[in-house]
Amino acid sequence: MEKTTGKVTGVNGNMITVAFTGAVAQNEVGYACIPEKDRTLRLMSEIVRVRNGVADMQVFEDTRDLQVGDTLDFTGDMLAAELGPGLLGRVYDGLLNPLPELAEQCGFFLQRGTYLPSLDRTTKWAFTPTAKPGDRLTAGESVGTVPEGVYTHRIMIPFSWRGVYTVKSVKPAGEYVVEDDVAVVTDAKGNERTVKLMQRWPVKLPINCYAERLRPTETLSTGIRSVDTFFPVAVGGTYCVPGPFGAGKTVIQHQTSQYADVDIVIVAACGERAGEVVETLREFPELKDPKTGRTLMDRTIIICNTSSMPVAAREASVYTAVTLAGYYRQMGLNVLLLADSTSRWAQALREMSGRLEEIPGDEAFPAYLESVIAGFYERAGRVRLKDGSIGSVTIGGTVSPAGGNFDEPVTQATLKVVGAFHGLSRARSDARRFPAIDPLDSWSKYRSVIEQERVETLRTILRKGADVEQMMKVVGEEGTAMEDFVMFLKKELIDAVYLQQNAFNDVDASSSVDRQRASFDVLEKVVAETYAYTDKGVARRSFLQLQQAFIDWNNTPMGIADYETRRDAVLKLVAEAPHA
Ligand code: ADP
Ligand code: MG
Repeated sequence: MEKTTGKVTGVNGNMITVAFTGAVAQNEVGYACIPEKDRTLRLMSEIVRVRNGVADMQVFEDTRDLQVGDTLDFTGDMLAAELGPGLLGRVYDGLLNPLPELAEQCGFFLQRGTYLPSLDRTTKWAFTPTAKPGDRLTAGESVGTVPEGVYTHRIMIPFSWRGVYTVKSVKPAGEYVVEDDVAVVTDAKGNERTVKLMQRWPVKLPINCYAERLRPTETLSTGIRSVDTFFPVAVGGTYCVPGPFGAGKTVIQHQTSQYADVDIVIVAACGERAGEVVETLREFPELKDPKTGRTLMDRTIIICNTSSMPVAAREASVYTAVTLAGYYRQMGLNVLLLADSTSRWAQALREMSGRLEEIPGDEAFPAYLESVIAGFYERAGRVRLKDGSIGSVTIGGTVSPAGGNFDEPVTQATLKVVGAFHGLSRARSDARRFPAIDPLDSWSKYRSVIEQERVETLRTILRKGADVEQMMKVVGEEGTAMEDFVMFLKKELIDAVYLQQNAFNDVDASSSVDRQRASFDVLEKVVAETYAYTDKGVARRSFLQLQQAFIDWNNTPMGIADYETRRDAVLKLVAEAPHA
């Protein structure tokens, strides 16, 4: 097919206008060409709007030296991701350029116009055929597998192929590189097509090669008590973590990536300051995988875009991340996608929209902000694949509203579509009560690991205790009735021993579902008691003792002899307390 060529007619930051004759499509990729002495610098760009022979395009790189009259080569393709074995354990930028390799090639300062293949072309993969001649397959069904780490990577009929294909031949078991043909199939008209170990998929489109979408009914165990018990996330569900700077969003995401019961973790570090992203890059490889004892990177992919990289690539990074997530779901795996922060992504949208001079909505965000956010979270889900196996993508996004004020467009648009809300509170993080998930503001539509009424009973105590605390600020401890004071102490106890969890203590950082149930049983008994203290100082000391005993228990690994002893120590303190 004849490729369209255009001429640059205007440059406004990373947004350019291009006049063309011929056909182009929304989201089509092109390369803006800057002639240099001995070569042409080609900058990747994407069409964001087409009107009367003029395309508005965002350039994924710095546009300095790009001039009116320069050529733009359209490719006929949308921004696409390379999908195949070899993605796990890698670190990419928003356009899926492998970052360490890019740095190696360009030195410390990344050069414009350098694009590297996402998948290594020389690595050999041990292919095992699973299809045989005569098999009839559709998009997303496998012709064979290769092992990738501990997982079985399926080699599938490309997702973009429509209709039914008949297998003509499959290569025998052996070693192949990603561009090798491993199967020949014929379509309904008898045309032959070849299947390689890799395929490409346009990142802005969801991968829909499954038999059935299932309801997210199973609780995803994250190891975080406050989440699993009070504000659960479902396998294949969505949740958001809004919070002010320093409230612990990134720490929670790291803790979740390490302990959540999923196969693969994809981290989209999006638009945060370079220093924070570097921290993620440094810390991640050091995180231990509690499942294997090896590094967590073995089953992680990091997509990383700092605030110093052009905004257009930042906008793309969220889509490349969710595309990789959808790809691994096709292998029957459970994938967790963590985006940090979706506010920075929304800011990229705002910047682009401003340059396009679109009519702005709330706080100058584009009017379509809500639908873009909804479209992103809709790519989560638990699905039954064509072979009957089940895979899922769970999406958790942090939101970093200015000043921690949740009453702003990104938080509000996100709240409309997600299934759970973990609002981080500045008051809690200032008091170093981590995780800072606000127990009164947060909510979830998913099912907890504990029966709902029992959770509600504890939440009622949390609310009543917080009311007493407020009142006490006015009337003082002396002016507070003993009964109310005990309610306050009960709330403090629930907070200290259950809501709070030390992300940096190996035992406490993750609480299994069994452990949460055991702790909840005991905590429920402790707070259900009526205590008849005559002195508030005595009451306070007695509850602090209880709290310490409970925390000792929390810090004791399950299954060792001390575990029972420590639990009994808590119950003994309760029995000894004065009762009415
Ligand atoms: P954010 O991403 O919201 O800006 P971070 O996740 O970087 O904030 O957290 C800021 C700091 O708060 C951390 O460096 C750490 O000292 C502390 N912190 C956050 N969460 C926890 C936790 N669960 N346990 C202990 N300390 C925490
Ligand atoms: Mg952060």
